[in-house]
Amino acid sequence: MSLGHLIRDNAPLSYWLVLFVVGGFAFAVYQGFFRARKIQPKGFRWKTFRNEIFFAIINLAIGATILGYISSELKSHGAITFNNSPTSWWVVALEYTAYFLGFDTYFYWFHRLMHLEPMYKWVHKLHHRSTSPNILTTLSVSPLESIINGGFVPLFTALLTVHQSTMLLIAPTNVIMGLYVHSGYEFFPRWWNKSWATKWFITATFHDHHHHYFKFNFGGYTTLWDWICGTVRPNFAQDYEQITARTRASAASPVAIAGSTQS
Ligand SMILES: [Zn+2]
Ligand SMILES: [Zn+2]
Repeated sequence: MSLGHLIRDNAPLSYWLVLFVVGGFAFAVYQGFFRARKIQPKGFRWKTFRNEIFFAIINLAIGATILGYISSELKSHGAITFNNSPTSWWVVALEYTAYFLGFDTYFYWFHRLMHLEPMYKWVHKLHHRSTSPNILTTLSVSPLESIINGGFVPLFTALLTVHQSTMLLIAPTNVIMGLYVHSGYEFFPRWWNKSWATKWFITATFHDHHHHYFKFNFGGYTTLWDWICGTVRPNFAQDYEQITARTRASAASPVAIAGSTQS
């Protein structure tokens, strides 16, 4: 089922969802919710944002078109097929876990490679124009980087015939994770980076610090490879504490935080 069909078939639900998101967003802005959660409070630059609009359009026009062409060619030649017979939830869970960890590994190592010259200059430098990311930074990558990262899904589905329900989970994961880690805001709580159950999952602060400090935090979905390879930024845990402490302060006194200029 295409995205167009999915939206059309669930139109009433989509309207409510949009209304809910827009309403929640307006309410949150009113509450100073976002201001307290900004990772780099003075990091936003209009000039960078303008450039990102330009590069995002180029990337969508070239990178997304080539990726779409490769995927449709692989599908029409039978190299990519999906399982659409009845299945149990654990098959979908297992396939999704394989995708999640597979992409995380693929992303980490290609990302490390892209930080080496001449790959950096040719492929990855464009994405690092923003040292304080915003949601547009997600798309502001060179078409070549887009093809490298986006190439994982066609590769994964060519190697493994996954169930179509798994595919319905993979696409939103990709979009949501990309937007969240580049949002410039930390929505996760303080305990996230301390608990053994959650500290392995990436936060927006983790990737924001990759853009800010450059040499550390290469992971895409998890912090696992960064821990294994010793590439977690040394002061990351301490800074995460400080950023999430602002959120607690805003909950205690929303007016004071909304009116303050943080540094
Ligand atoms: Zn990078
Ligand atoms: Zn990034």
